[in-house]
Amino acid sequence: MTTILRVDARAVLLPLRGSFKTARSVHTHQLSVVTTVECSDGVRGYGSIDPSPGYLPETVPQVVAKVQDVLGPALVGIDVADPRSLVEKLVSIAPDSPIARASVELALWDLQGRLQRLPVHRLLGKARRSEIALVGWIGVLPPEKAARAAVDWVEKGFRALKVKIGQEPQSDCERVRAVRAAVGPSIEIRVDGNEGYDVNTAISVLRALRPVGLIYCEQPVTRRDFSGLATIRRQVDVPLMADEGIETEADLRDLVRCEGADYVKLKVMKHGGIWETYHMARIAAEGGLVCTIGHGFGTALATLAEIQVAAVLDRATDAHEMVGPLKLLDDVVVQPLDLSRGCVGLPDSPGLGGDPSPDKISQYAAV
Ligand SMILES: [Mg+2]
Repeated sequence: MTTILRVDARAVLLPLRGSFKTARSVHTHQLSVVTTVECSDGVRGYGSIDPSPGYLPETVPQVVAKVQDVLGPALVGIDVADPRSLVEKLVSIAPDSPIARASVELALWDLQGRLQRLPVHRLLGKARRSEIALVGWIGVLPPEKAARAAVDWVEKGFRALKVKIGQEPQSDCERVRAVRAAVGPSIEIRVDGNEGYDVNTAISVLRALRPVGLIYCEQPVTRRDFSGLATIRRQVDVPLMADEGIETEADLRDLVRCEGADYVKLKVMKHGGIWETYHMARIAAEGGLVCTIGHGFGTALATLAEIQVAAVLDRATDAHEMVGPLKLLDDVVVQPLDLSRGCVGLPDSPGLGGDPSPDKISQYAAV
């Protein structure tokens, strides 16, 4: 029997390439957690989570403490053979700490894949795609700069773009129109309001943007306003995506009941890990929603976990958003993940598919 020997969580502070402004804050560094699970065979699995400050209630110090003091000790000595029962144990111990659970859960799947010499997507099911297309992002920029950024993405090979809106309606619209004019009709454009509008403003902005041809608008209004989303959805013919509003399975079922969206964004970190995200995606599909996987900031390990999930989904967008490593100057793996051409092949090496670097994890350790 192979059992869990030790679990260790460390905070790391990784430098970003410049700074990135969202509707919420400006980021120059990324504070992440790398969690290691070592089993009695001496094999190690690695996971990582990256909670942006203010986005979710769990902070990095809280996650480290929860893993070191609660989740890790509870797993030591347990048979690793059935990762799903380990996930259930994590949920029962820490039902209100999805991010701490995710940091351990990713490491457990990585470990399981390494022990079975299979990539995580093979442990989950059947891969539906061999390559994941990625979405390039454009922040709150003046129209000319946004257009230049869009052309840069397309020249690198990206075929899908996301433009941040949700601030000042007139300039938001000018930004999106400038991007469309710069890249032509064949590139997918989505917009993300990050909860920035009220219902009436969202309706008028999306009506004004209708000629631009948007694949969807993400979270135009405040997170819990599912009926507001439904109102917008009835009055404009731009499809809607829920993001901030979806944390739990119950949220997702409420959204479906309200008919508030056509798409939903799921994030491995936010929903407690790979297995719970996969489960949420199946509920979304049953409710007629199309999923996109990914979040804006993440190490290679967090990104690989999202790639593994996106690969096995039946009902998903072509392009996903796990582009965190593009924003990092360095990572916690030996070979950085190359996302620069707008797509990434499905890893076929055991586990998550990364090559974690203990040296880098020590080098960037946050005290
Ligand atoms: Mg979003």
